[in-house]
Amino acid sequence: MRKKQGLLIILDGLGDRPNKELNGMTPLESAKTPNLNFIASQGMCGNVYPISPGVRVGTDVGHLHIFGYDSNKVYPGRGPLEASSAGMELMPGDVAFRGNFGTIDDNYTVIDRRAGRIREGTKELAAAINGLVLSDGTKVLAKELTEHRVAIVLRNKDLSSKISCTDPGTAEEGKKLEMPRALDKSEAAERTARNLWEFTIRSYEILKEHPINKQRQAEGLYMANSVITRGAGQEKYIPSIKDTYKIKAACVAGDLTVGGIAELVGMDYFTHESFTGSFDTNLIGKANIAIKLLNEDKYDWVVMHVKATDLAGHDNLPLAKKEMIEKVDKIIGHILGEIDLNNCYISFTADHSTPCEARDHTGDGVPTIIAGGDVRKDGVTSAGESQFMKGSLNNLTANDIFMLQMDLLGFTEKVGA
Ligand SMILES: [Zn+2]
Repeated sequence: MRKKQGLLIILDGLGDRPNKELNGMTPLESAKTPNLNFIASQGMCGNVYPISPGVRVGTDVGHLHIFGYDSNKVYPGRGPLEASSAGMELMPGDVAFRGNFGTIDDNYTVIDRRAGRIREGTKELAAAINGLVLSDGTKVLAKELTEHRVAIVLRNKDLSSKISCTDPGTAEEGKKLEMPRALDKSEAAERTARNLWEFTIRSYEILKEHPINKQRQAEGLYMANSVITRGAGQEKYIPSIKDTYKIKAACVAGDLTVGGIAELVGMDYFTHESFTGSFDTNLIGKANIAIKLLNEDKYDWVVMHVKATDLAGHDNLPLAKKEMIEKVDKIIGHILGEIDLNNCYISFTADHSTPCEARDHTGDGVPTIIAGGDVRKDGVTSAGESQFMKGSLNNLTANDIFMLQMDLLGFTEKVGA
């Protein structure tokens, strides 16, 4: 079968609900989007569920589903993701955690969960606890990440990620670290919970005496005397998108979570310091990389991600969300001038809805388009959640949209003879 190329543009958290500030329209409905309207008219549209109706997802899980995966089967959790972004090589059976250097007192009460947003000295502090061996022989690996963040790995046979962690929650300071508990009845979970608590106690003993913390104390700064853990996860085997679909895929993004997920599934990740993951991101720079990757014929499928629409949703800024959509629409106009829709499909979606008035992710469907020369046309000619309810993709799922794209591109296998 003849292969074609595809470009997918993802606006993070794009989906919205009727908004008072926009006369009862959503930001997408209210935005001037001649180019999105054009691509809507050149294909199929609909509101698409990230997993299924009403299920709220995070950016990580939403992107896994956009990339064709079932997060229930493959998602290892945030701990392993952070560990690999710290450059740690995980082995099968390792349990990884997201950690914060935090400040606690002798009663394990949290005084500051980010150790005053410590920026310097975390490399030395992580080195001081890296290599610690616990009483049952479990080895601890620690590696600093940006600012107060640190990745922690427990390495031994028969460990489990089915445990609760020590983080008492983000709501407020003044709570005690929580004693880890097994979340199932397995011996491995009991043992891992005991290990995590032993690590918490012993790392406190080491860190509170560390010269960097003595210095911080002398300067009146919060000591980074503990590691507060969450996001336990265990390495799982994730089949690469290259192996499953024989497709060469790339992701252009500024957001590290999206970049991390893309790399996890075997896509090449392209970024630049001007891709800020915020309103001031370099949209034209992203578009030009995507165009180059397609036109140089290095990739079959290129994904371009824009984060700011999600930020506007969380901060309840409908006008800023609308403005960002209009900026992206102009960039789509630029892209349309550089690619040939007869050889390269263009698709458009979101990882979840972040309605401004909800200020959080919801389980609503997300506006989605698949367009190109020979794509069936469903008669929808303008972009918006309401308009897309009449579209042919309405109520499908992110996995369905992935499969439809792979089929158009010529990368699916026939079922049967
Ligand atoms: Zn998101």
